[in-house]
Amino acid sequence: MPAEHVADSHGVIQVRGARENNLRDVSLDLPKRRLTVFTGVSGSGKSSLVFGTIAAESQRMINETYSAFLQTFMGSPSRPDVDALHNLSAAIVVDQERMGANVRSTLGTATDAYTMLRIVFSRIGVPSAGSALAYSFNAEGMCPGCEGIGKVSTIDIEGLIDRDKSILEGAITVPQFSVDGWYVKGYADSGYFDPAKKLRDFTEQELDDFLHRPATKMKLNGINTTYEGLVPKVQRMYLSKDKEAAQPHIKAFIDRVATFAPCPDCGGTRLRPEALASRIGGRNIAECSAMQVSDLAVFLADLDEPSISPVLLTLRHTLDSLVEIGLGYLSLDRESGTLSGGEAQRVKMVRHLGSALTDVTYVFDEPTVGLHPHDIQRMNTLLLRLRDKGNTVLVVEHKPETIAIADHVVDLGPGAGPAGGEICFEGTVAGLRASDSLTGRHLDHKVALRESPRPFTEVLPIKGASLHNLKDVSVDIPLGVLTVVTGVAGSGKSSLIYGSMPRRDDVVVVDQSAIRGSRRSNPATYTGLLDPIRTAFAKANKVKPALFSANSEGACPNCKGIGLVYVDLAMMAGVASVCEECEGKRFLPEVLTYKLRGRDISEVLGMSVTEARDFFTEKQARAVLDRLVDVGLGYVSLGQPLTTLSGGERQRLKLAIHMAEKAGTYILDEPTTGLHLADVDQLLALLDRLVDDGNTVIVIEHHQAVMAHADWIIDLGPGAGQDGGRIVFTGTPADLVATSQTLTAQHLREYVG
Ligand code: ADP
Ligand code: ADP
Ligand code: ZN
Ligand code: ZN
Repeated sequence: MPAEHVADSHGVIQVRGARENNLRDVSLDLPKRRLTVFTGVSGSGKSSLVFGTIAAESQRMINETYSAFLQTFMGSPSRPDVDALHNLSAAIVVDQERMGANVRSTLGTATDAYTMLRIVFSRIGVPSAGSALAYSFNAEGMCPGCEGIGKVSTIDIEGLIDRDKSILEGAITVPQFSVDGWYVKGYADSGYFDPAKKLRDFTEQELDDFLHRPATKMKLNGINTTYEGLVPKVQRMYLSKDKEAAQPHIKAFIDRVATFAPCPDCGGTRLRPEALASRIGGRNIAECSAMQVSDLAVFLADLDEPSISPVLLTLRHTLDSLVEIGLGYLSLDRESGTLSGGEAQRVKMVRHLGSALTDVTYVFDEPTVGLHPHDIQRMNTLLLRLRDKGNTVLVVEHKPETIAIADHVVDLGPGAGPAGGEICFEGTVAGLRASDSLTGRHLDHKVALRESPRPFTEVLPIKGASLHNLKDVSVDIPLGVLTVVTGVAGSGKSSLIYGSMPRRDDVVVVDQSAIRGSRRSNPATYTGLLDPIRTAFAKANKVKPALFSANSEGACPNCKGIGLVYVDLAMMAGVASVCEECEGKRFLPEVLTYKLRGRDISEVLGMSVTEARDFFTEKQARAVLDRLVDVGLGYVSLGQPLTTLSGGERQRLKLAIHMAEKAGTYILDEPTTGLHLADVDQLLALLDRLVDDGNTVIVIEHHQAVMAHADWIIDLGPGAGQDGGRIVFTGTPADLVATSQTLTAQHLREYVG
């Protein structure tokens, strides 16, 4: 064991012979109740070790403790490919998946802060509205006008129907209402009107029944069913759910037909009048929930009520944790679904900080995503606090500021994919610095400021932006250069760039959001690369190209070309196991006999992008593969399910696609997410190439190397939330460093050497 603390009294987690994905028979010991940071270039195997092996095995062992009955339902998740894992504790993965797409979930309900606030109001609010539930917008306290959602929608009826058609001719223009479908049949057979009559010929009564009739029980063809007018039906089907979670065409439909306004009954507070009448220190619970968390913490600090001190203490503690973690600019009434991935991860972390569990293994995926260098310090404090509560903390991270606080570092590499999968270094941070590993060499890496920023003449002006916290901001976005937008988390960068830029149709936003598609989607299908691959296979073997698609007759019927069999459970996350028929190869044995230059289709889909680039001579395939290498995805395999890609990888994959479209203006959100310090240079070269090809590139970033490389910087601040929302600097990086005192300037100054 390299470091003395490894052998201390708390013992170690022993990993022996790990071979998941690209791991090469890796064995190591991880000190328990310590903070271990995993480093290495993207694709080196960090996730395969931390999530795919350690967390996965812990999860599997927990599943095994369920009854045999439950296990039959859950299937047996395949055991990670590892010889032995000893001394493992229960693992909790704190990831960047966005939080529940439920309109009833808010920051307050997700952290339990709102529950505690309700208790405080029920005890000392004047007049008291009743028990705690009387203040709950999901229970008794719910505003009857909006059922506790706080918003009401109005529907543009013309967006739902075509009056020149009959119902049978397709008069209903709502998604999922096809003429031969179930929904339309319900209207056609209802008996309230003639489905062959054009809507414009309907009587007033017929039109009213068609559009507005409230839910009415009826018997249709012998079956009990409920008739409901089109407007309430659409409202229930589409508008009472979270728009952000809807499929893109449904989201577009909602945007087209619905306008949302605060509920007139409750003013958007979701609560009934009795709950709103109850006050503490002049404020009601809705006003408290709308306050910025940092202000609410100050407000509650002044309360001194012995009768409720334990609740107040817990509530203050939760609010303080939110402030410490850099989320003090949020309010408790903020819908969880609108939080960014990084914000969601930090909220989950606050929940765990309040947990009474100890001796848990917490696993974090790049917890500093979305954090300005100024905010990273606070995140570090919280990671250390989790450790000091007696937990083992495992963190995958690239930022030197967080690597610096590790008790133990494990560096994977040396390269990505097949060129990685080995342990290059284990030990202390000092040891890592002294080692000649790629990570060690980059730790104290200083960057040079761009010497001659590209000049610009044309700009895209933003005038008087006031979305969210923006304070009447006017700023010019230069065209044809690389602009980096900076500022602490919550300063208003997204509100300015996503919410306030004049709409132009050449703008593509390349973000980290999930890519929708089936479980069969992978980089080959998503980029269109599969087409030239199928054609090449078909030509070489004189058979149909369709045989080589995962959704064709050539696919394994058992797993439908996925290679994995999923068992979905109502309440638990689904589990996947390798298909027993094809052993994960996805295709019928007959299809696998067709070869292209000695390889079958399953082998080709198993290749990494880099391997495939050497394998394919076909021009069309090469062009796609080159772009994938350019965006730093050379290590990803062609057939890897898109659902297994990280946010950063998804963003770079989308960039590879959009690059081919020659968009004109690209907006990227923290494109360095998931990138090792050594990979960032390649990303910068790519951004330069986009600009040199005549494009405008706007990047929201916290990485100092990207800031230093900008032609132009727009810095927002000075703080977050109400303390932000102003432009505090615009100019070149050199000017920023030389003349400005903003937080960004201070941190950039330290970074340039
Ligand atoms: P890191 O976390 O260091 O970026 P990963 O562990 O995600 O690296 O990836 C290591 C290698 O394993 C890469 O070549 C990647 O393409 C491959 N890989 C990761 N996940 C899967 C998967 N679900 N299926 C197939 N290959 C995978
Ligand atoms: P940044 O991108 O710099 O992190 P944002 O633009 O996301 O900052 O946030 C600026 C302010 O606007 C914050 O106070 C944030 O809470 C608020 N805000 C952002 N998005 C929303 C939203 N969808 N609803 C309400 N407030 C929001
Ligand atoms: Zn209401
Ligand atoms: Zn199969």
